[in-house]
Amino acid sequence: MPVPDPAPPEIVPPPTPRDPPDSVPAARFHEVSVDYDSGAGVVHALREVDATFARGRLSVVAGPSGSGKSSLLRALAGLLRARAGVIHVDGTDVTRLRSGARRRLRRSAMGIVLQDPADNLVEYLTAREQIELAARLRGTDPVEASALLAVVDLADREGSRPDELSGGEQQRVAFAAAAVGRPALLLADEPTAELDAAAGAALVDAMRGLVDGGASLVVASHDSAVIAAADHVVALRDGRVAST
Ligand code: ADP
Ligand code: MG
Repeated sequence: MPVPDPAPPEIVPPPTPRDPPDSVPAARFHEVSVDYDSGAGVVHALREVDATFARGRLSVVAGPSGSGKSSLLRALAGLLRARAGVIHVDGTDVTRLRSGARRRLRRSAMGIVLQDPADNLVEYLTAREQIELAARLRGTDPVEASALLAVVDLADREGSRPDELSGGEQQRVAFAAAAVGRPALLLADEPTAELDAAAGAALVDAMRGLVDGGASLVVASHDSAVIAAADHVVALRDGRVAST
């Protein structure tokens, strides 16, 4: 007697419990690996990195030069693709997004200060115009442009273009532009690298002020003043998490 084929069991995924919003971190890395293909071979910049960046906190990614800090930030910003692993930003798996969607998320939800000042600013715009442009891209009003320039101690440099500013001043303009419109996530790569101690301390105060206002910051730095101000430190060494 022919045995009737049993109907394939219907696979019903269990309902994923929706986390209450407060428990969704600003960002989460799950076994993230990033490689670079250089002429000399493959460089493993991040190796199975697990890390959680809480909302409303100042998280610092620390570690010596070459440990993978910039790679972590660029992967978080969706500026480079991880070879393996999953990166969630505010609950969204950014590793699955196409480049257009990643760009939109970056514009609406993130402010980014890259390590090299030349990557952050438009050479023919004044400090004020940089902030206005960032606001327009984010779809917000640049009403706070002057206030933000004051926060980074550059109120008197509104009309200066990048070639009239030092590297440290350019980074502070970039920081003000990144912060305009209060993005959910603010990323900054070695923001105090070109600042003297006093200007560095002022920028740390500005970062703490944004966090106290509800922003989530992830800052790559090996500056002890920045690390001392952190709520949470993720230490990298050779692309691995050495401690969190
Ligand atoms: P950090 O910011 O901590 O100095 P990076 O993320 O810049 O570290 O670099 C991590 C590793 O990846 C280093 O070994 C570095 O030389 C290498 N690396 C970074 N960028 C590139 C690139 N574009 N091509 C090849 N190797 C790179
Ligand atoms: Mg770096």
